[in-house]
Amino acid sequence: MSLQVAVIGGGIGGLSAALNLLKAGLDVHVYEQAPRIAEIGAGIQISPNASRLLHRLGLKPAMDQFGVRPLAVHQRRWQDGRTLQRAPLGPEVETLFGAPYYHFHRADLANLLADAVPRERLHVGHKLVGLEQRGDRVTAKFDNGTSAEADLVVGADGIHSRVRTVIFGPEKPRYTGCMVWRGMVPAERIAHLDIEVASHNWMGPGGHCVHYWVSAKRLMNVVCCVEHGNWTAESWTDRGNVADVLERYKDWHPIIRGLIEAFPETYVWALHDRAELPSWTAGRVTLLGDACHPMLPMMAQGAAQAIEDGAALAALLKAMPDDVPSALARYEALRKPRATRLQDVSTANRTRFHLPDGPEQQQRDQAMATSGDRSLANIGWLYQHDAAAVS
Ligand SMILES: Cc1cc2nc3c(=O)[nH]c(=O)nc-3n(C[C@H](O)[C@H](O)[C@H](O)COP(=O)(O)OP(=O)(O)OC[C@H]3O[C@@H](n4cnc5c(N)ncnc54)[C@H](O)[C@@H]3O)c2cc1C
Repeated sequence: MSLQVAVIGGGIGGLSAALNLLKAGLDVHVYEQAPRIAEIGAGIQISPNASRLLHRLGLKPAMDQFGVRPLAVHQRRWQDGRTLQRAPLGPEVETLFGAPYYHFHRADLANLLADAVPRERLHVGHKLVGLEQRGDRVTAKFDNGTSAEADLVVGADGIHSRVRTVIFGPEKPRYTGCMVWRGMVPAERIAHLDIEVASHNWMGPGGHCVHYWVSAKRLMNVVCCVEHGNWTAESWTDRGNVADVLERYKDWHPIIRGLIEAFPETYVWALHDRAELPSWTAGRVTLLGDACHPMLPMMAQGAAQAIEDGAALAALLKAMPDDVPSALARYEALRKPRATRLQDVSTANRTRFHLPDGPEQQQRDQAMATSGDRSLANIGWLYQHDAAAVS
């Protein structure tokens, strides 16, 4: 009989893990608290280290249909728009790393993952409230009064993970001091800005702004991130005021102001993170994605790392189906150092992106001008990595 796995959480991490585990021949069920699989109106960048793994799940046609392939990553100065770095992300990157870089609307990505999971294996309206481990079996209990038994429970339930709390005790995520406004702008509102199909990142004192096309270039995803925001609530659905964003970015380049002026609405949230966990696993329960390694978005790698986690876990369970504890130990040994490195690089980028104008910023700009390629030597450690190669 194949190993029974209960995945808690139907986000990008949980759904892609489930697909990998199913492909590995395991008996997998996903339990999601929400009444349906739904992602918020925001964008997500998926780099080759993750898109390669999703292609292997047979998702390339759907990804090509919904994803936008940026030609370059363009780093610019906040006020005069001067280019700090421009590196290819298009065919050059695909040729070098064997998989494309994509930009998605989150809902498109979540839906295409959910559509690939057999209906009878996806249980919405199931909020995990408790876990009980007895011998080699785990019982997951849900708020609707039902329960499920499995040989392994995978907590893919995000930064506020209930699974993590159950196995390691309560610990609040930390407010990082950064707040974010996001807007999704219809293409027709910004046609006059003539914005290239690229990943754009504008850096300025105490803040940065990222924007890129999603949904077959019908929408521009815009994320404005600032230090010392007065907003600490971590909700994807709290409304902000467009006037506040404009006020904060009033001295920035006309393209940034033009984008913000075109916001149909804006949502605001505070960025949180967590300290590194000593371990991800307790008995037959383990974690993946934001549940164990939430990171700031300044490397655009949180979801990519969650996707990598699922691919690695599935490959290991396939290789050692009769020795789950060893597979889990190896999973953590392989995945934790890489995820921790990306947490650290993301945190360092926050400082780099937000430097006040002055000598440090000038040093950063000089360094960027000479290190901006997407060569194997430069970015191979990130994009070439194959998380499913576990032997
Ligand atoms: C501004 C911003 C921009 C970002 N940009 C990028 C990017 O470009 N590229 C990238 O790779 N990453 C990016 N990230 C990070 C990325 O969004 C996250 O790392 C990723 O969504 C984590 O996926 P996950 O599946 O682990 O968790 P989540 O997406 O949080 O999913 C968790 C799921 O579990 C469910 N759940 C929660 N509790 C329970 C429960 N008790 N029972 C059952 N279900 C439960 C939730 O409803 C949810 O569906 C960004 C993050 C931010 C904040």
